[in-house]
Amino acid sequence: MNTEILIVGSGCAGLYAALTLPKERQITIITKSDLESSDSFLAQGGMCMLNGKDDYDSYYEDTMKAGHYENDPRSVELMIKSSPEVVDDLVDFGVDFTRNEDGTFAFTKEGAHSNKRILFHKDITGKEITSNLLAQVKNRENITLMQHTTLVDLLCYDNTCYGAVVTDCNNVVSHIKADYTLLATGGIGGLYRHSTNYKHLTADAIAIALNRGIETKNLDYVQIHPTTLYSDKEEERSFLISESVRGEGARLYDKNVNPFVNELLPRDLLTKAIYEQMKKDGTNYVWEDLRTIPSQELHSHFPNIVAHCLKMGYDVTKECIPVVPAQHYFMGGIKVNYESKTSMEHLYAIGETACNGVHGKNRLASNSLLESLVFAKRAALDIINKYETLPDKDTADMSNIDSHTDLDALKTYYSKLVLDKINAI
Ligand SMILES: Cc1cc2nc3c(=O)[nH]c(=O)nc-3n(C[C@H](O)[C@H](O)[C@H](O)COP(=O)(O)OP(=O)(O)OC[C@H]3O[C@@H](n4cnc5c(N)ncnc54)[C@H](O)[C@@H]3O)c2cc1C
Repeated sequence: MNTEILIVGSGCAGLYAALTLPKERQITIITKSDLESSDSFLAQGGMCMLNGKDDYDSYYEDTMKAGHYENDPRSVELMIKSSPEVVDDLVDFGVDFTRNEDGTFAFTKEGAHSNKRILFHKDITGKEITSNLLAQVKNRENITLMQHTTLVDLLCYDNTCYGAVVTDCNNVVSHIKADYTLLATGGIGGLYRHSTNYKHLTADAIAIALNRGIETKNLDYVQIHPTTLYSDKEEERSFLISESVRGEGARLYDKNVNPFVNELLPRDLLTKAIYEQMKKDGTNYVWEDLRTIPSQELHSHFPNIVAHCLKMGYDVTKECIPVVPAQHYFMGGIKVNYESKTSMEHLYAIGETACNGVHGKNRLASNSLLESLVFAKRAALDIINKYETLPDKDTADMSNIDSHTDLDALKTYYSKLVLDKINAI
């Protein structure tokens, strides 16, 4: 199959890139599962936006401080300054962020933020954003969507990408040739037993990058979220208790229901404090109390969390819930420049699978959706520019592609490759 631009992944990064590209270009989006099964749909708390010019210095400092000052300063600047423009695009695409009575945006706050600067839609912000992007994509005649189609390798030759090797749901291998390829395959949670991510997010693009000598960065920067609902049953994925409940007043307690920590610490420090407390108490969890949030706020802002806890047997209006840290986010990834281009020609990486250095060593809450969108747009704009000077490309050498690859062996090899690399650092 031939296409002009191939996007791998139907999360917010892949969809927004597709919508930024011109309607005249032939675009194909492939996705490993169905269109809605992406972490972008799971995002609860919200998305940051610069809350007025006066907020710049404090937003910049909060992002850098959470990232232990290992962040790329230019990436942080680009993300923050582009946030109003991205929010305008989202509103144009039909995204309904919660507003005050006077029509202005209602901002909320989360851990390690010194200002209110987080836009939200109840506690299902990611679903609100991504379902609207998906609806727009479905209306574009130039975009072809292929579900249950998995990237297993790149068509590449002489450090230039010519498209992808994919499999369908029957494990039949085929090639999709493309002028430009964007990897938007999300995080790595599927490699871990306890993660808030979808299980099918197994770092495939990272493994392919390692295999193909494409540069990667900070592969050991894996974020553990401090608060997911504890369960002693084997689960598909851990249910997140969003940071914004703590931003709105939820408290954390030890086994004797005594406070033991500042709930608004950055994620890595809070996770450490919780693990230490669990060890001291000899427990598998600590308690989180949502009764400290005013009832009206609890029900209007967090209906999904309240309902899920009830389904699991906890009435958050009457009792504390048990919470435990779990793998959540990947700050490292395929190394990209400010235009999201990888070290391989004609190949881009966007969203959680990319590393442009914005998050440093630890991501600040609600910066991920924004970062994914800002740098997806930058990739799309760069591709538009590149098309103006695109010479005829050499024909790719396909001789190294074995269509009888043992796919199960490949999957095991990929997972091992990434985990070995992370653990070796
Ligand atoms: C529970 C939860 C809550 C969160 N809350 C927030 C929040 O409040 N605010 C915030 O900013 N961030 C939040 N995040 C993080 C944020 O949602 C993600 O970082 C962001 O959505 C990543 O977007 P993405 O497009 O890069 O990847 P995803 O949305 O995960 O999409 C990845 C896509 O790639 C596809 N894919 C993967 N591998 C392959 C392959 N081999 N071949 C083909 N397709 C493939 C998947 O099927 C999927 O379509 C949260 C994450 C989780 C899990």
